Amino acid sequence: MLEADLKCLQEIFGDRLQENIQMKNYTTMQTGGFADALLIAQDAQELEAFTSQVWELGLPVLVLGSGSNILVSDAGIREVVIINHAHNLSIHSYQGNIQVTAESGAMMSKVARQAINRQLSGLEWAATLPGTVGGAVYGNAGCFGKETADNFIQAEILHRKQGKVVYGKEMMAFEYRSSILKRSSEECVVLAASFSVQPGDYDEMLQKIETYQERRQKNQPFGPSMGSIFRNPQNEKAGRLIEAVGLKGKKCGGAEISDQHANFIINTSGGTAQDVWNLIQTIENAVHQKFGFFLHPEIQLIGDWDAKIFQEFETYQTTQENA
Ligand SMILES: Cc1cc2nc3c(=O)[nH]c(=O)nc-3n(C[C@H](O)[C@H](O)[C@H](O)COP(=O)(O)OP(=O)(O)OC[C@H]3O[C@@H](n4cnc5c(N)ncnc54)[C@H](O)[C@@H]3O)c2cc1C
Repeated sequence: MLEADLKCLQEIFGDRLQENIQMKNYTTMQTGGFADALLIAQDAQELEAFTSQVWELGLPVLVLGSGSNILVSDAGIREVVIINHAHNLSIHSYQGNIQVTAESGAMMSKVARQAINRQLSGLEWAATLPGTVGGAVYGNAGCFGKETADNFIQAEILHRKQGKVVYGKEMMAFEYRSSILKRSSEECVVLAASFSVQPGDYDEMLQKIETYQERRQKNQPFGPSMGSIFRNPQNEKAGRLIEAVGLKGKKCGGAEISDQHANFIINTSGGTAQDVWNLIQTIENAVHQKFGFFLHPEIQLIGDWDAKIFQEFETYQTTQENA
C-alpha cells in the first residue's frame, strides 16, 4: 500500500487502524502473510462506516468473517482488511412468516442455535457450519443436503456504486457454493441477512444437530484447514477422485492432503500458503491427467498472489467440470 494512502487511513481511523497484521491469526488455515492495514468492525454501523470511508479514499476493501474459506498469500494483502464482528440478531414475524435477521458477522452456527433455542426450525443444518452469515451468503455455504439459499429471504448490501440496497433471492442468483457476489467484480459488502424459520419440536431439532455433529467428527479431519478445497463435480465426490489418483496423505512442506478425507488439506506444521497451493496444483494436474477435467476450487485465493497463479486458479474455476 502506498505510504500516502496509509497516512490517510491513520488520520481517519487513529488507533482503530492496525498495521502489518499477520493474517494467519485471522484464517482457519493459519497461513498467509501480513495485511498492510486492518480494521475490526464491532457492529453493523461500524462495518458500514468503515467500508464507506475506505471507499471514499478510493481504496479497495476486503471484508472477512472467520477466514474459513480463504487462502491468503504469503506475500500478504494490500487491500484494507475489515474483520467483521457485527453479530446482532433479531427474530420477527412478517406477514405470518417468521424470520431471523442477523448482522453479517454473526456465526451461522450461533444463528441456527439461537433459532433452535426459541423452538424455531429450518436452520439446523447450519448449526455445525463454520463461518459467518456474510461468508455463507457470499458463497452459498451448505451441508447435509441444505444450503444458505434454502432459507435465504433477503440481504442488506452496501454496494460501492449504488450505496445501500436490498437483494432478494432472485438477485442473489445462488448456485452451488456461489452467488452473484462471488461471481461479480462489483464491490459489495453484506451488512445483514434474513432467513426463514418455522415453529419446530425442540428435542427433534437437538437430535438432528447431534447427528450432524457426530457426522462431522467422524468424517472430517482435525487440524487447521479450509474445509473442502474443491466443489463436488455432478454425481461425484471430489475426495473420491483425489483418492483415486493416489494423493491421500501427500505432503508439501508443512501442509498435507488429509488421509482421512482427501478433499481437505491440513496445515500440520507451519505450512505456508505456497505449500497449500503446490498441493492444490498437484491434485489438479493428477485429476486432469486421469479424468480429463479440472476440479473447481471452492476456496478463494486472497491477497498478493503471482498473476500466473491467479490465472491458473481462474482456469480451474472456469473450465468444464465433467465427471
Ligand atoms: C473445518 C471446516 C469445515 C467446513 N465445512 C463446510 C461445509 O460443510 N459447507 C460449506 O459450505 N463450507 C464449509 N466450510 C467453509 C466455510 O466455513 C464456509 O465457506 C463459510 O461460509 C465461510 O464463511 P467465513 O465467514 O469464514 O468467510 P471468509 O472465509 O471470511 O470469507 C470468504 C469469502 O466471503 C467474503 N465475505 C465474507 N463476509 C462477507 C461480507 N459480510 N460481505 C461480503 N463478502 C463477504 C470474503 O471477502 C471472502 O471472499 C468449512 C470450513 C472449515 C474450516
